[in-house]
Amino acid sequence: MVIERINFLKDEINKANYKYYVEDNPSISDFEYDKMFAELKKLEEENPLFITPDSPTQRVGSVSEKFFPYKHKYRLYSLDNTYEYEDLEDWYKKIVKEYGAQELVCELKIDGLAIALTYENGYFVRGVTRGDGVTGEDITNNLKTIKAIPLKLFEPVSLEVRGEVYMPKSSFEKLNEENLKNGEKLFANPRNAAAGSIRQLDSTITAKRDLSMFTYTGIFTDVKEAPKTHYDSMMYLKKLGFKINPYIRLCKDAKEAVDYCKEWDEKRFSLDYATDGVVIKVNSFAVQEEMGFTSRAPKWATAFKFPPEEVTTVLKEIEIGVGKTGAVTPVAVLEPVQLGGSTVSRASLHNFDEVGRLDVRIGDRVLVKKAAEIIPKVVKVIDDEEHYKLKPYTPPEKCPYCETKLTTRDGEVNLYCENPFCPAKVKSKIEFWVSKDAMDIDNIGPSIIEQLYDRGFIKSPVDLYRLNMQDFMQLDAVKEKSAFNMYNAIQNSRHNPLNRLLTALNIRNVGKETAELLAGEFGTLDKIMSASVEDFITIDGIGEIMAVDIYEFFHDEDNIRKLEELKELGVEPAAPAEVSSDEFKGKTFVLTGTLQNMTRDEASEKIKQKGGKTSSSVSKNTSYVVVGENAGSKLEKAQKLGVIILTEDDFLRMIS
Ligand code: NAD
Repeated sequence: MVIERINFLKDEINKANYKYYVEDNPSISDFEYDKMFAELKKLEEENPLFITPDSPTQRVGSVSEKFFPYKHKYRLYSLDNTYEYEDLEDWYKKIVKEYGAQELVCELKIDGLAIALTYENGYFVRGVTRGDGVTGEDITNNLKTIKAIPLKLFEPVSLEVRGEVYMPKSSFEKLNEENLKNGEKLFANPRNAAAGSIRQLDSTITAKRDLSMFTYTGIFTDVKEAPKTHYDSMMYLKKLGFKINPYIRLCKDAKEAVDYCKEWDEKRFSLDYATDGVVIKVNSFAVQEEMGFTSRAPKWATAFKFPPEEVTTVLKEIEIGVGKTGAVTPVAVLEPVQLGGSTVSRASLHNFDEVGRLDVRIGDRVLVKKAAEIIPKVVKVIDDEEHYKLKPYTPPEKCPYCETKLTTRDGEVNLYCENPFCPAKVKSKIEFWVSKDAMDIDNIGPSIIEQLYDRGFIKSPVDLYRLNMQDFMQLDAVKEKSAFNMYNAIQNSRHNPLNRLLTALNIRNVGKETAELLAGEFGTLDKIMSASVEDFITIDGIGEIMAVDIYEFFHDEDNIRKLEELKELGVEPAAPAEVSSDEFKGKTFVLTGTLQNMTRDEASEKIKQKGGKTSSSVSKNTSYVVVGENAGSKLEKAQKLGVIILTEDDFLRMIS
């Protein structure tokens, strides 16, 4: 029955609203919420008699009782939204039909908390949350702690503005890390963290949180010579001292707006703040006025929402992985679900401490999140009634692959399998050996390694160099051509640069960067093998613990034998590239994003040839940050610290 479905949806949406708006602790993903909302709206449109004033489609948000309520002078609305370009084009067609061709303004939809600010004669007097649109919460004192909110404008005007308070992604992660350390509540995403921080009763807590605000609307009824279009009004607000998102764009039609949405769907991950879509507004204020509002949203604006970064799904199992160091990690096996444009069936759970903290149980509904280039992870468990009926999870005591009792290491949260012959651990070591960062052996993936190991062809990475083409031909579904490619890729890795071999050796605490430092400093494996702990400590970037780890690795009998075997098998690293000039002496470069004309490794090689250094993190000691496409938080950090930013073209000119 339609009415039952309507009531069910109303109930579910109201429950979700309470968790989201009042508790800042969502129980479902935005994507699922939007799906239910769209269904309810459609059913109500088809059956208008069933629309009741308490339906979530008739109002916006919710007000909590934490702060003093404040009745807005001008009502605040929500936005209609869609995940389809076609809907956007249809919306525009209807406008053109009635009002003629219209310019549109596209803005990023900042995923934060809507706020209304009142200024009198240029002074900030009041800041109120959107609440239910009619009444909000007066949080003036908290808002005064946000530096992006001007307390005094550059002109003595009286006006109201609306904007979105947000927390940068990097600050959100830091806050959650600290909360985790202090055993405090973790926020599911930057939006909830911003909402939770701004709605603190103690404004000194808000002041400690890194919050900012983009202003996106002004109401100019009291302003003489008020702007006549949305775009001009934004430029005026900027002139008055408000922070405006720099990516605002005036578009001549829906096609240009769709292009903008497509562009930002790809680029959104490079920003240090969360955006869940694009807001598209009719530019002319006169047309906006004619078009008006529905009960909860303006008709002259719409939001295009990006494919979701977060969804809920069922956790079917917790699989145990053993990494190259022996660290035993839990992996969530999920009911496959569409997320960020791909199907996800596994997600990271980090370690068993995290499993305990999340209280994940097999059969739980979990919220899974994916950001660009990052493996999906389980963010939280939906702690509904069903959750408490499930059996709490207990971590394993023995390695599931070799039955060895698992141990802990001092000061570490991980569990370890210390058996050097554990099949899962050995396979992980071999997988790491062939990986991009290490020996970069193409064509050999986990399933090939699994077969080679299980059939007894290899028992360690060294054995890779003993394989011949016939061995590969015996594997399932391997034909002559791919056997040749695999064999060839292994042979080609024999004379890889020294830093690659040092990475592949999997020395404790030595990653790709330290391997580069060691290779650059010593030049040959023999020199590293005969170096003392002190020799390592003198290298900038290598501390005492690491120096001891390196020294011990090269004085371990097994390792020495392994290195000799490698040498006998013809694995002899190429000498590091000669430094051809000291043009970049004393300069540190950070490479970020995707370069078009060379790989990052090639770019680092060029920098080193000219006497410079590369680093993976931006600090005030960084000389240059070279940015490729989709550059992320490093670019933002460089901007914050005032480090010189080079485009790929600038960099190419520098090295030519
Ligand atoms: P919304 O967030 O989808 O859109 C309206 C809001 O967008 C405005 O109020 C404003 O705050 C914001 N916005 C950001 N940038 C803007 C810009 N440049 N111009 C204009 N506005 C801009 O709508 P809403 O009513 O705040 O919330 C509804 C949405 O919140 C749902 O679509 C859903 O995604 C999410 N939600 C989720 C749950 C959940 O349980 N997961 C519950 C309730 C709401």
